[in-house]
Amino acid sequence: MSTRFEHDDDGVLVIIGSGAGGGTLAHALARKGIKSVVLEAGKRYALEDIENDEWAMFEKISWLDERITAGPRQLSETFPNLPAWIVKGVGGSTIHWAGVALRFQPHEFRLHSEVGDIAGANLLDWPISYEELEPYYVQAERHMGVTGDASGMPLHDWNNNFMVLAEGARRVGYEKLRAGPMAINTRPYDDRPQCMQAGFCMQGCRFGAKWSTMYTDIPRAEATGYCEVRPNAMALTIEHDERGRVNAVVYADAEGNLQRQRARAVCVAGNSIESPRLLLNSHSALFPDGLANSSGQVGRNYMTHATACVFAEMPKPVNMHRGTTFAGIISDEARLDRSRGFVGGYTLEVMSLGLPFFAKFMDPANGGWGRDYAAILEKYDHLSGVWICGEDLPMEENGITLHDSRKDQYGLPVPIVYKGDHPNDEALRRHGQQQARSCYEAVGAVRVFDVPDFPTSHNVGTNRMSARPEDGVVNQWGQAHDIDNLFVSDGSQFTSSGAENPTLTIVALALRQADHIAERMSRGEL
Ligand SMILES: Cc1cc2nc3c(=O)[nH]c(=O)nc-3n(C[C@H](O)[C@H](O)[C@H](O)COP(=O)(O)OP(=O)(O)OC[C@H]3O[C@@H](n4cnc5c(N)ncnc54)[C@H](O)[C@@H]3O)c2cc1C
Ligand code: SF4
Repeated sequence: MSTRFEHDDDGVLVIIGSGAGGGTLAHALARKGIKSVVLEAGKRYALEDIENDEWAMFEKISWLDERITAGPRQLSETFPNLPAWIVKGVGGSTIHWAGVALRFQPHEFRLHSEVGDIAGANLLDWPISYEELEPYYVQAERHMGVTGDASGMPLHDWNNNFMVLAEGARRVGYEKLRAGPMAINTRPYDDRPQCMQAGFCMQGCRFGAKWSTMYTDIPRAEATGYCEVRPNAMALTIEHDERGRVNAVVYADAEGNLQRQRARAVCVAGNSIESPRLLLNSHSALFPDGLANSSGQVGRNYMTHATACVFAEMPKPVNMHRGTTFAGIISDEARLDRSRGFVGGYTLEVMSLGLPFFAKFMDPANGGWGRDYAAILEKYDHLSGVWICGEDLPMEENGITLHDSRKDQYGLPVPIVYKGDHPNDEALRRHGQQQARSCYEAVGAVRVFDVPDFPTSHNVGTNRMSARPEDGVVNQWGQAHDIDNLFVSDGSQFTSSGAENPTLTIVALALRQADHIAERMSRGEL
C-alpha cells in the first residue's frame, strides 16, 4: 500500500510535476526522510504501455492541452497549437527524451561577463558557477547512469548514422566526436538492463535502459514511504497566507473535482511553459502580477536552443533508425569564439527520425506532396540526419503570457508561447547548417537538405535564476526571491541555454536543491 498524506497535512512539501526536475527532487528528498506530495497532471504509464510507434506514443503521452504558438517563426503556422514537445504523464518529458546528457561548460554560466551586453538580448550570468555545480554533475551522472567516468560505463558503439556523419566531420577537421555521454546503459546498471540498440528511444524505452523518472526516481521515492504521487492531478493555483508565504495548492483531480493540498513549501516543476503559467495564474491581492513576479520576469526569457535539422541522402543504405536515436555528438563548435560571427556555441548531434515522424516533419506546411518529397521518402533507408543544438540568447519578449479570453478544460487562461530569433541565433543556425552540409558533402552525399522546425523539446528560462531580485525570479538555489518557501525545480530556472541539452543540468540542480531544502529544514528555516 503506497503512502497517503492527508489534504490538511501542512508538513508536506508539494512538488508540481514528476519529470526531470520534480521526479528527481521528490526522490532525493524522500531519501532524506522529507515528506512530499507530487501532483502530476498526466496519467501513470507502465513499461508495457510503451509502443515502438512514433505517432501512437506521441498521441498517448504528449501535452496536447490547448496552447498558442506565436511569433515570427514558421512554427506558428505549421504547428499553431503545439509550440513545444512536452510530455504529460508520470515521468514527464524524461519518458520521451533521447538520453543525451552533456554538462554545461564553465564559461556558459557567465556568458554576460564573457561577451558583455548584446543589443536585443537580456543576457545575465548565472548566480552559480560551474565549479559549484560540478559535484552535483558527478552525482547526477551516477544517479542517471550516464556513460563515461562517473558511472564507469563505456560509451556506446557507433551506429551507421554516426559513422557517416563522423567520417564527414573528420574530413572537415573536427576532432571531438563521441557516442555520448548518454543516460542509456551500455551494460546492466542500477537494476536496469543494457540498451538493445533497437531505436525508438523518443517513444519511451520499453526496456528501461534509458534513464527516466517514470521507472527510477518516482517508484523509488514512493517505496521509501515519504512520497505520495498523485497522477491526473492538475495544479491550478498556489495559495499563500497573509504574510505571503505559500501554504496550499489547489488542483483538479481525475474526476475534475477541486482539491486543496496544504503545504509546508511548494516546488514548481511543470516545465518552462506550465511553471510560469501556474505562477501567473496564482495572482492575488498581495501579488497582483502573479507569484514571485515582483521583477516582472516570470514567463520571460523563454529559450528553446537555436536548432536546425539537416539530412543527407547517401549513396548507400544507412538505416539511421537502427541504434539509439541520438547516437553521437560533435562538440568542436561548442566553444566560445566570436570570430564565427556569433556568441555561444553549438553541438552537432546525429539524429534519426522514424519514417512516420520524418514524413510529417519534412513538409509540415503542405502535408507531404510532390515529386521531390516522394523521391526523398523513397530513399529513407539511405538517409542520415543531424540536429544542431546551439546557444539561444534570452530575450525579454520571448515568453509565456495568458490569453485574455480563451480557457482550457480546467477553466484556466490558455498560454500564448511567443518565440522569435535574435540575429545571433540566426547566424549560429546558418553556421551550423553550413558545417553540417560540409560534413555530408565530404563523404559524398547525393543531396543535402534542411528539415523545417518542429515543436521544441528543450524549453528553458521562464523563471530564471539571478543574483539580484530585480533581474530574475529565483536565487541560486531555485528559491523565489519574493517568497522563501516557494521553489522552482525545473528547466525554467535556467539563466542561459548553453549549447548543451538541458536535462543533466536540471537533474544536477534538483539534487543540489534537495540538499539546500534539507539543510534549511534542519535549521528550522522552512
Ligand atoms: C522528444 C524529446 C527528446 C529529448 N531529448 C533530450 C536529450 O536527449 N537530452 C536532454 O538533455 N533533454 C532532452 N529532452 C528535453 C528533456 O526531456 C526536458 O528538458 C526535461 O525533461 C525537462 O524537465 P522538467 O522537469 O523541466 O519538465 P518535464 O520533464 O517535462 O516534467 C514536467 C511535468 O510536469 C507536469 N505538469 C506541468 N504542469 C503541471 C501542473 N499544473 N500540475 C501538475 N503537473 C504539471 C507535466 O505533465 C510533466 O509531467 C527531450 C525532450 C523531448 C520531448
Ligand atoms: S535503443 Fe536502447 S535506449 Fe533506445 S529504446 Fe532501444 S533499448 Fe531503449
